[in-house]
Amino acid sequence: MQARTLRLLSVNDGADTGRGGVSVLLTADPHLARAPIPYYQSPMTQLPTPRGQLTPNRPLADLTWLRVGGPADFLFQPADAADLAAFLAALPSDTPVFPIGVGSNLIVRDGGIRGVVIRLGRGFNGIDIEGDIVTAGAAALDAHVARRAAEAGLDLTFLRTIPGSIGGAVRMNAGCYGSYVADHLIDVSIITRAGQAQTLLAADLHLAYRSSQIPDGAVITQARFRAGRGDPAALDAKMTDQIAKRDASQPTKDRSAGSTFRNPVGHSSTGRADDTHELKAWKVIDNAGMRGATIGGAQMSPMHSNFLINTGGASATDLEELGELVRKRVLQTQGIALEWEIMRVGEALVKP
Ligand SMILES: Cc1cc2nc3c(=O)[nH]c(=O)nc-3n(C[C@H](O)[C@H](O)[C@H](O)COP(=O)(O)OP(=O)(O)OC[C@H]3O[C@@H](n4cnc5c(N)ncnc54)[C@H](O)[C@@H]3O)c2cc1C
Repeated sequence: MQARTLRLLSVNDGADTGRGGVSVLLTADPHLARAPIPYYQSPMTQLPTPRGQLTPNRPLADLTWLRVGGPADFLFQPADAADLAAFLAALPSDTPVFPIGVGSNLIVRDGGIRGVVIRLGRGFNGIDIEGDIVTAGAAALDAHVARRAAEAGLDLTFLRTIPGSIGGAVRMNAGCYGSYVADHLIDVSIITRAGQAQTLLAADLHLAYRSSQIPDGAVITQARFRAGRGDPAALDAKMTDQIAKRDASQPTKDRSAGSTFRNPVGHSSTGRADDTHELKAWKVIDNAGMRGATIGGAQMSPMHSNFLINTGGASATDLEELGELVRKRVLQTQGIALEWEIMRVGEALVKP
């Protein structure tokens, strides 16, 4: 069971104008220890009153693919872009903000995330197609976007087997089978940490291997992609083929966050000229004898050794410790420093 390290003492409704504010008094639970966190040194935190849902002390495990992690101080699910902008504009500037998609590339640590976690939902999942341009809300699932595009005869098939949302795909420059977000992205709409709506061109994001430069605390709300034409039936067949390939080579039915480590050199996808086969992460993990290794409920998948899985009952600590053990063994045996591809976020739980 995850310990809840904070108690909510009082929540007083503020004015309902969206600017009135909610007074929330938080205190550390004296029975549980945790490293001091600057955010909580001020006992009273003023949060604006949004139209969307603001939930204090919200466990995050069920919002991630690995099903681990402690609570967010607050989870905010904005009603729409205007609600998000007003909330961020009114939120004290020292309150940390962390947007999440569907948590398919995250280990949220057991102590949870300080500040406000923002998760976009229904108001942000529209998909519109005009000519060869696909406009998708940041909460739209990659797979839905790929399918809708294919029905309209547009090829964004590479998104079909990536289990994230469009916001996460842009942030991570997601890609597979030789195509990446960077190959198709035109621009993104964001709400800055200060609550300003802006449009950033793809070139402004400096998209690179599994990375981008999104301004700190900004939330992507929408992205526009340009796609090549294709026959809908052929695109559908291509996606079916990709799903079969995945199911044959990766533990797609297990709880994972995809590739755990970047390939030591080159790109992770198949079919690119710079894809070096000698230095795949799974291969160096195999060479280190770590396929199938376990710590608690965490395991390096016997099916694909670069997939870290929760076999049931793993904590974030189990998963991260196993990943670090793999890195250590690979370094010791082959002199290669593996880099995490999965993002680890939040605070470790300090046991009393
Ligand atoms: C089985 C499996 C297979 C996978 N295969 C691939 C693959 O082939 N290729 C690949 O690239 N990835 C793959 N992944 C990893 C993952 O699906 C991608 O990285 C995906 O793009 C993450 O999207 P998400 O919505 O889950 O983002 P999250 O994991 O929730 O977040 C990832 C990052 O994106 C940021 N983010 C999310 N939404 C927003 C937003 N609206 N605004 C600003 N920042 C945001 C978060 O802050 C975080 O930094 C795989 C994962 C799994 C579980």
